[in-house]
Amino acid sequence: MDSIKGIKGVKDILPEETPRWRLIEDTARRWALCYGYQEIRIPLFELTALFARSIGSATDIVEKEMYTFPDRDGTSLTLRPEGTAGTVRAFIEHNRAADPLPQKYFYIGPMFRHERPQAGRLRQFHQFGVESFGTSDPRADIEVIALLWRLLSDLALPDLTLEINSLGSSEDRAAYKPLLRSFLLQQESRFCENCRRRMDTNPLRVLDCKVPDCRAATESAPRLMDHLSPEARVHFDQVLSGLCALDVPYQLNPRLVRGLDYYCLTSFEITSSHLGAQNAVGAGGRYDGLVETLGGPSVPAVGFAVGLERISLMLQKTSTALRDECLYYVAAFGEAGVKCGLVLLDELRKAGLSAQCDYRSSSLKSHLRQADRSKCRFAILLGDDEVARGTVILRNLESKAQEALPLSGLASLLRARTFSA
Ligand code: ATP
Ligand code: MG
Repeated sequence: MDSIKGIKGVKDILPEETPRWRLIEDTARRWALCYGYQEIRIPLFELTALFARSIGSATDIVEKEMYTFPDRDGTSLTLRPEGTAGTVRAFIEHNRAADPLPQKYFYIGPMFRHERPQAGRLRQFHQFGVESFGTSDPRADIEVIALLWRLLSDLALPDLTLEINSLGSSEDRAAYKPLLRSFLLQQESRFCENCRRRMDTNPLRVLDCKVPDCRAATESAPRLMDHLSPEARVHFDQVLSGLCALDVPYQLNPRLVRGLDYYCLTSFEITSSHLGAQNAVGAGGRYDGLVETLGGPSVPAVGFAVGLERISLMLQKTSTALRDECLYYVAAFGEAGVKCGLVLLDELRKAGLSAQCDYRSSSLKSHLRQADRSKCRFAILLGDDEVARGTVILRNLESKAQEALPLSGLASLLRARTFSA
C-alpha cells in the first residue's frame, strides 16, 4: 500500500533539529521576558473576518495566501496567517485596556499561508512576535526594535541589516498618496499586473513589490519620508537617535511600507544577505489604529514578528551541531541485574538524571554496543555478580575509565556529582 505523505510546504521538525529550535525559542522567550513582555497563547484559527479586517483586503495574505474553510454551520474560518490580529482580538475581548497600560505580549507558534514552498518559505511556518499596547512614546518603538536586534545578535546571526522608515500619520499618507498615485500612473505600463491593480486601492504597496521592473520603476518615486508632518518627523528622529544611543545600527529605506491606514510612523524590517531570495528575517512597526479598527478603544501599539524557519536556516550555518544528550546508559543483564536495573533507571530519572536502556539487549556485549550508539556519556554495568556484591561499574564511554560504586544510594551519589560539577 502507498504510504501517506505530509503536505507540501508543511515540514516535520525531526529530533536532530529540535535542539536548534529549542535554542531559538528559549532565546526568544528569555529576551522577551527580560524586556517585560508576557507570553500569550492565541488560537490557531479564528473567524475569517478578523484577518480580512485587520490585515486588509488589498494584501498578499488576504488576497491569496489564507487557508480559509467553512465550519460545519457555514461560518468562514481561517488558519491564522500571523499573530497580531489574534492578539489584538484577545486584548479587546478580555477588556485588557481597562487594566493598567502599557501591556506587552509575546507569542511563539505556527502560522499558515498558502505560498509557493521554497527554502525559507513554507505553508506552515513559525513566528515569534511581540505587541506593546498603550504607549505612543517613541521609546516603545526603540524598545521593540532593540529587543529584536538583541535577540538576533545573541543568536549570532550573520550579516543582519535593520532597515527603517516612517509612514507618517494618516493625514501625512492621505496627502502623499495622490502624489505617489500620479507618479505611478504616469508609467503604468512598466508595472506588473498586481501593482497596476493596487495603484488605486493601495498605492503604497506598489513601493514594496519584489518584481525587479517594478522596483526600477519606483526608484525615483516621491518619498513619504520627505512629506512627514512636524510631529511625525520628531517621532522618527527620536526613534533614530534612540537607536544610535543603544548602538543599534540602521539604514533608512524610504520604500519600506505597510500600505494600510492603521499602520503609522515607524516601520522596520531586518534582513540578512545569508538568506538568498527570502531575505527578510522579521518586520514590524507601529499600528496605532488597529485596536480601534477591530472594535476596541483607541490604544496605540507597536510590535514585530520574526520567522523562525529563516533564523533556523542561518543558525544551521553558524552554530556547531547541537544535540540532546542522555547521561547514563544502564546495562542491566542477568536475572537479578535486569530486576535491579529497572528500579535503578527509575531512580536515576527521579533524581533528574537522564538515563536509558535498550530492553532488547541481554548480554553485556550487546549492551555496550547499544551504549556506544546511544551517545550516552556513561554506562552503568549491572549484572548478577554486581547485584550480589552490591556494587556497579561506572564506565566513562569516551575515556573508557571504569570505577566501582555502591549500588545502594547510587542515584543520589550521581546526582550530587552531576550537579556539583
Ligand atoms: P515575505 O516578504 O518574505 O513574504 P512578509 O512580509 O510576508 O515576508 P511578514 O508577514 O512581515 O512577512 O512576517 C514576518 C516574518 O515571518 C518574515 O520576515 C519571515 O521571516 C516570516 N515569514 C513570512 N512568511 C513566511 C513563510 N511563508 N514561510 C516562512 N517564513 C515566513
Ligand atoms: Mg509574504
